[in-house]
Amino acid sequence: MTDTHCHLDFMEPEEAQAAIAASREFQAILTIGTNPERNRKALAIAQANPHIWAAVGLHPTEANLLSPELEADLQNLALHPRVRAIGETGLDFYWTPETKDAQYLALDFQHRLAQNLGLPLIFHVRSKDGDPAEVEIADWLKQHRPSKFVLHAYGGHLKLLEVGLELGAFFGLAGPLTYKKNTALREAVQQIPLDRLLVETDAPFLPPEPHRGQRNHPALARFTLAKLAEILGISQQEMEKITDQNAQVCFGF
Ligand SMILES: [Zn+2]
Repeated sequence: MTDTHCHLDFMEPEEAQAAIAASREFQAILTIGTNPERNRKALAIAQANPHIWAAVGLHPTEANLLSPELEADLQNLALHPRVRAIGETGLDFYWTPETKDAQYLALDFQHRLAQNLGLPLIFHVRSKDGDPAEVEIADWLKQHRPSKFVLHAYGGHLKLLEVGLELGAFFGLAGPLTYKKNTALREAVQQIPLDRLLVETDAPFLPPEPHRGQRNHPALARFTLAKLAEILGISQQEMEKITDQNAQVCFGF
């Protein structure tokens, strides 16, 4: 079992310890940094636990922190052998529409860094009303064509699906796959090749059914895996093997 996207540093130390203990048997967990301080925490957690790896980046809601010093810091952290991806980056028009220009600059920088180091780039995409962030990310992807990337917490947007399929994206599927109302997402997922599917939690956020309303943690990735297996008509065991393998290919665990 693998959780390809969580934020263990968003948990209190006790909660994180319990979460790590509950997922001891996992192949791997990728904990994602979102700003300089959190990148360091993510990396420290990865260094302390053999099955945990880190991604370092600047979240689009933190894009106004971008500076030459921050770029140098990210460049430096990204060289650490426990770091297996750059991000999360992308566009967020829900929380911080006012920093759109900075979000693009931060995205462009993290793309160049990922390309230089041969690391996958992790995308966060969130819109306010309708779909502008997904459409803008799709356009950006067509123009920049990153060699290896993940659409984290993919939500079922069809243009993003089309461009993602064309460019060989990995699609990160999180708790919302299990939510009753997300029929369109479950339909979209059926169009994704098996070797492009990843399971993630985004813990402590986005808990899957039947744990909605509670804090999420990596061990709950099993509920999303079970839903994915059910949608695709594959046994849970086979689905786990496939998604573990995909995570290995993507992140080199
Ligand atoms: Zn995240």
